[in-house]
Amino acid sequence: MPWIDRSADRYTRLMHRRAAPPLPLLSAALFSVALVAGAAEPTADDFSGARALAHLEGLVGLGPRPSGSPGMARQRQLLSDHFRTAGATVVPQRFRGRDPRTGQSIEMENLIVEWHADRKDRILLAAHYDTRPFPDRDPVDPRGVFVGANDGASGVAVLMELARWMPALEGPVGVDFVCFDAEECVVSPRDPYFLGSRHFAREYLAGRPVGTDVRRYRCGVLLDMVGDADLAIWQEQYSVEWDDTRPVVESLWGVAARLGVRQFVPRPRYRVDDDHVPLRNIARIPTCDVIDFDYPHWHTTEDVAARCSAESLSAVGRVVLTWLREQR
Ligand SMILES: [Zn+2]
Repeated sequence: MPWIDRSADRYTRLMHRRAAPPLPLLSAALFSVALVAGAAEPTADDFSGARALAHLEGLVGLGPRPSGSPGMARQRQLLSDHFRTAGATVVPQRFRGRDPRTGQSIEMENLIVEWHADRKDRILLAAHYDTRPFPDRDPVDPRGVFVGANDGASGVAVLMELARWMPALEGPVGVDFVCFDAEECVVSPRDPYFLGSRHFAREYLAGRPVGTDVRRYRCGVLLDMVGDADLAIWQEQYSVEWDDTRPVVESLWGVAARLGVRQFVPRPRYRVDDDHVPLRNIARIPTCDVIDFDYPHWHTTEDVAARCSAESLSAVGRVVLTWLREQR
C-alpha cells in the first residue's frame, strides 16, 4: 500500500463527508438472520485461515522483499513452485524499472498465475508482492528493516491458500492471480508507484498476451493489507464511485453479509490510490480494492506476522472464494 501524502490531501477520510446510506443490515435481528444463513453456506469453512497465516509467515521469513532484492528473488521462486505444484500455469512478466536507492535500472517481474487457461471469460485477482524498501513511518527507525507482513505478504498469502481451491472451480470463468512487483519501490514521495500494475495494464490495453495468451477480464479484485488481526474492510471510495466497479463491490460485500463476515463493513471510508487505479483507468478492467487501511503499524518495523491473524485471512478468503464460485 503506497505512501499517503496527507499534505496534498489526496487521500481523504470520507467517513464524515458522505451521507451515510441506510443500514438495515446492522440491526441485531437481521444480523442474526445473516448468521443463520451463513451457517448453511457450503463453502464457509473451506478456506483455511491457519494455512494462509502459515504462508504469510513463510513469506515474512524470507526477510525484506523489495523489487530487485535477493529476498524478492527467493519469494518469486517460492511462489512459482507453490502455484505450479497446486496446478497453475505460472508465467513471468518481466520489465525494467529504476531502483530509487541506487538509481540503477533493475529487472522487475509480475507473476501471472493462470487457472483454467482455456476459459475465455476471466477474472483477475491481484496483490502486490514487493515490500517497501524502508519503514518510512517508523517513529524510531525509519531506515530499519521492513518485512511487510500485512502490507506485502497478506494478499499473496490469501492467494496461496485460494490456490488449493482453484483446480476444482466450476462455472464459466477462468481466474488469473497476478502478483504485482514494484507497487511501492519508492524512497521519496517523488518516486513513481504502481510500476508493475501499470506495465501489466499497458500490455493488456495494447492487446499483447498477458500470461499465455491475450486475455479478456470481466473484472478484478485487488487484495491489499487484508491480514490485520483487528480487521475492518470498509469499502474503498474509488471502487464505490466508479460505475463499473460498484457492482463488484456490491457483490463482494453482499457475499460477506450473507456469510456473516463482520469484517467487511458495507460503507465507504477511505479513498486509496492503489494498483486497482491503473487496472481500471489504463486497462479498463473494473477492479475494486479490498483493503483495511486502519493499521497502526503501516510502514513501520512493527508490520510483522504477529500483527496478523488466521481469522482475518480466513474472513477475506472465504468471501473471495464464495464470490468466485458464484460467478456465472
Ligand atoms: Zn505500503
